[in-house]
Parts: sequence; C-alpha cells; structure tokens
Amino acid sequence: MTTDHLFEPLADTPDRAAIRDGVRAICERFDDEYWSQKDRSGDFPFEFGAAIAEGGWLGIAMPPEYGGAGLGITEASIMMQTVGSSAGTFAASSAIHINIFGPHAIVVHGSEEQRRRMLPPLIEGKERACFGVTEPDSGLDTTQLKTRAVLQGDRYIVNGRKLWISTAQEADKILLLARTTPIEECAKPTDGLSIFYTDFNRDYIEAREIHKMGRAAVDSNALFIDNLPIPVEDRIGEEGKGFRYIIDSLNPERILNAAEAIGIGRRALAKAVQYAGERVVFGRPIGKNQAIQHPLAESWSELYAAELMTLKAAALYDAGLP
Ligand SMILES: Cc1cc2nc3c(=O)[nH]c(=O)nc-3n(C[C@H](O)[C@H](O)[C@H](O)COP(=O)(O)OP(=O)(O)OC[C@H]3O[C@@H](n4cnc5c(N)ncnc54)[C@H](O)[C@@H]3O)c2cc1C
Repeated sequence: MTTDHLFEPLADTPDRAAIRDGVRAICERFDDEYWSQKDRSGDFPFEFGAAIAEGGWLGIAMPPEYGGAGLGITEASIMMQTVGSSAGTFAASSAIHINIFGPHAIVVHGSEEQRRRMLPPLIEGKERACFGVTEPDSGLDTTQLKTRAVLQGDRYIVNGRKLWISTAQEADKILLLARTTPIEECAKPTDGLSIFYTDFNRDYIEAREIHKMGRAAVDSNALFIDNLPIPVEDRIGEEGKGFRYIIDSLNPERILNAAEAIGIGRRALAKAVQYAGERVVFGRPIGKNQAIQHPLAESWSELYAAELMTLKAAALYDAGLP
C-alpha cells in the first residue's frame, strides 16, 4: 500500500495542487543518484536550477509584467515544500530559493525601472543572486552590521565583510545590506541602513568558500568587499530605509525555509515508515511495535501542525499583515 497520501502538502485548491504536481514532475527527473553524486563532488546542481527556471517557477512570486506568475508567498511555499520533499531536499531548496525570496524586496520596493531591469533575468534563470546580510559579528543582530557604503558622486564605495553567503561562487548579482549612515548619527539603530542589488564584481569582492558538513552541493562563503563601486541606480528605495525593506526578503525567507524543512521532514518520515514496514526483526516488521509506531505518528502530527502554522504565516504575509 502506498503511503503517499499521508505526505501530501495541504494544497487544498486545484490551483495549488497544480503547483505541487508541476514542481514535483520536474523534481522527479533528479533522483537520489543525481543528488548523491552532487553531494560527493560538491558541484552546484546547475541542471536542476535550469529545469526549474525553464518551467517558469523562479518567477512564482514576481509580477506578471516582468514574466512572473504574480502569485503569493503562500504559493511559493507550496512550491518550496514540494522541492524540500524531493530527492534533493536541502541542497535542491538552497540552490533555487534565494532567487525567489532574496529579490522580493525589489518586487515590493524597487522602482519600475529597477524591476524591469532586475527581475526578468532572475525569472529566466539567466542570472543568479546571492543574499548578503550576515556578517562575522552580526547574525540576528542585523542593525550592528559593519559594512559601510559611502556616497561619492554618483556611486557608493562599499567596504566590509559578509559571512555564510550561500551560492556566492556562482552568483552574478548580490542583494547587499550595508550601513550608509553611522549608527551614532541615527535616531534608531534600524535607521541608516540601505539595500543594493548590484553586480557581484569579483574585482572587488573575494568569495572564499567555507567547507562545511552537509549541503555540499551548495557553497557557503566568506566575502571580503574592498572598495566595491555601486552605481546609485542600484540602490533599492530610499537611502537609510534598507532595514524596513529587507524585511520583505527576510519574512518570505523564513516562510519558505519553514516550508522546505517540512518537505524534508515529510520525506524523512516517508522513508522511515517504509523501512518500518520492510525491516524484519524477531520474525516480524519492526513497524508492528508500538514503540516504533508512536514516534512516527508524533512526527507526522508535528509536521502537520508546522505546515498549518507556516501556511498561516504565508497568508498573513500575503495579506500585508504583520
Ligand atoms: C546553511 C546556511 C546558509 C546561510 N546563507 C546565508 C546567506 O545566503 N546570506 C546571509 O546573509 N546569511 C546566510 N546565513 C546566515 C544566517 O542567516 C545566520 O546564521 C542567522 O541570521 C543567525 O545568525 P548567527 O549564526 O550569527 O547567530 P547569532 O545571531 O549569533 O545567534 C546565535 C544563537 O543565539 C540565539 N539568540 C540570539 N539572540 C537571542 C535572544 N535575544 N534571545 C534568545 N536567543 C537568541 C539565536 O537564535 C541563535 O540560536 C546562512 C546560514 C546557514 C547556516
């Protein structure tokens, strides 16, 4: 008997089910062997990224005028939960999610000219973006970041360091958060930060890969930024309001990461259930024992509850509510 029905995400309308089925059809072309090989070699899964882009999925939450599907973070989370539950799990999710949540601040706060210039190459998969927020001394405490952007004529000159930046080895662009006004001169620590979406110019940015355990196919990096020039037209929105703007990337990020984690959990649980039915010890499948059944059932209900909470967060975000 198939257990698939136990692991379906809550795609409760035909449109949402179509998203899940369309994304799953692409993911199924990349099996355990593909991802296992990528994990061993540490090579970026370009083929998978290209297939998702070809299917038009990278623009799921971007406006139709620029080639997107114009849907919400709710639909994007159904998409990313499906990717998370595929053979590529975390690597597959991380290979594509930054192109969806990272530029979302541009979707919400970019000018017409910026959206027309910046979004189509992302949707078409021609450009890959990385997301430059975290620094060695500021993780969650974002307002304490030290990267400085100083306006000189018609460009900013940027100096600083970033840490844990995913996909910087492949990125063509960076969404960068930097301080444009010293914190001492600001009324609030959240003031004086600005966001930029600009070329990942390797003449001025060195990306040093950090070797880590897990997700080997998607690189993590320390960035050393020295005198990077950024044209004024690459600043998103007003100077000094970047913290408020970046929330429109960070909140979608949290929702999509949660959806991916639920997908990964569902896949792990499906594998565990299958194994419990197959593995025979003391003359019967181990799944006949309640001590095996109970934690599986508990995991199932926790994942279900997490999915409800994630969809609730997505619905609030899409409705423009906190
Ligand atoms: C695989 C991976 C990929 C990443 N990719 C990117 C990327 O592409 N771009 C990017 O900008 N960043 C990226 N990051 C960085 C990530 O966003 C940060 O790790 C995250 O913001 C947390 O920062 P930190 O690690 O410095 O933790 P810290 O801020 O140092 O926090 C350490 C711990 O303390 C807890 N804590 C902190 N303050 C409080 C408090 N007041 N009360 C209770 N608990 C608290 C935190 O929850 C955390 O568990 C990535 C990280 C990982 C692991």
